[in-house]
Amino acid sequence: MEDIETLSAHIHFVLREGAIHRLTTKGVYCLTFNMQLISLPAFRRIKPDLEVLIRGRRGIRIEKARHHLLEGIYHDYLKTLPPEQWQYLPQAQYIMHIEGFKDFLDAPPDKRGDMAPGYAVTWLSRFIEEWTKGQQVEIVHILPKGQGEESFEAKLQRLELATSVVSCTMCKDKHHAGRVLIGWKSICRHRCSMLEGLRKPCVTYEISHTATAAAVSVVACVGLDPSIATADVMDARDDRFMCGDCLPENHRGLHGWKVYTWIECVSSVLRRLFIFHLVKCNGKYLQIQHAVEMSHSHMHKNPAWYLLTPEATRFVREHESPYPHPWHQIWRCNHCAHHFQNQVHQKDAIVHAKRV
Ligand SMILES: [Zn+2]
Ligand SMILES: [Zn+2]
Ligand SMILES: [Zn+2]
Repeated sequence: MEDIETLSAHIHFVLREGAIHRLTTKGVYCLTFNMQLISLPAFRRIKPDLEVLIRGRRGIRIEKARHHLLEGIYHDYLKTLPPEQWQYLPQAQYIMHIEGFKDFLDAPPDKRGDMAPGYAVTWLSRFIEEWTKGQQVEIVHILPKGQGEESFEAKLQRLELATSVVSCTMCKDKHHAGRVLIGWKSICRHRCSMLEGLRKPCVTYEISHTATAAAVSVVACVGLDPSIATADVMDARDDRFMCGDCLPENHRGLHGWKVYTWIECVSSVLRRLFIFHLVKCNGKYLQIQHAVEMSHSHMHKNPAWYLLTPEATRFVREHESPYPHPWHQIWRCNHCAHHFQNQVHQKDAIVHAKRV
């Protein structure tokens, strides 16, 4: 009797709203296994609940199969676009909201049904265009108010300034790359990528005032006007800087000052430093540590950047590791969709590009 009660409770637990979606393969195996142990009368007792469970599981299976079909069509469509655009395109999960797919996705879950790729594709290019515009509207909305009336295009242009520093709120307290994003492309790339350890893309952003102040000081340091200098101009200069507030550090057997690119100068102010101080407790001194943002440490209250001379910059660049690193599996062919899903080392991408 205890078995049937446990089994019945298990089925009711699974049937609770939402729990059926989380039922794992192991969970299904346990249910099936226990089912073999119960008597026929006991089975009849739980049969109605069991039927609800089976219908629910079939619905989920069919929903997944429909998503899978649409994702396949979407990926095939992306492969027809130039590879350099892929990193700026929305994740497949968003196409499930396309109006033209509603009837297919909402159809009764008795069979998967079908979707003609030709019909699906007619919705995709407009969807990408509208999604991109929607994201841009959201992002320019967080910019501080400009002078007078400003059109959407003017705001979008302002986003390209070296001093429009956007920070991803979901990466804020982590060591992810989204802490300093400058320019629409950089924001969009972050929005479209799925970071390791996260189950959802990063969707909320804010202006980082601390990093903006750092960007203003770096742009002014090279003699440009922070109100008009763009990130592209700063990238093209490819200057190197040293921080006048930092102490020399030990790195790979060398003792000296760290050299920064302009983006590194901006992101360095958000870096966490560990401050140690002594506290007297019961007559004994204890060492306490706490983290503060670099810009809040007393040494970095007023940024002091030093621009390296062209000779020193050339020397530093010659000794830097290449970026992006050739050994990271992030490379793909720019002429075809061969590496759409599986990116490779730079060496392999070059071999492929030479062969085709
Ligand atoms: Zn993020
Ligand atoms: Zn410093
Ligand atoms: Zn290729």
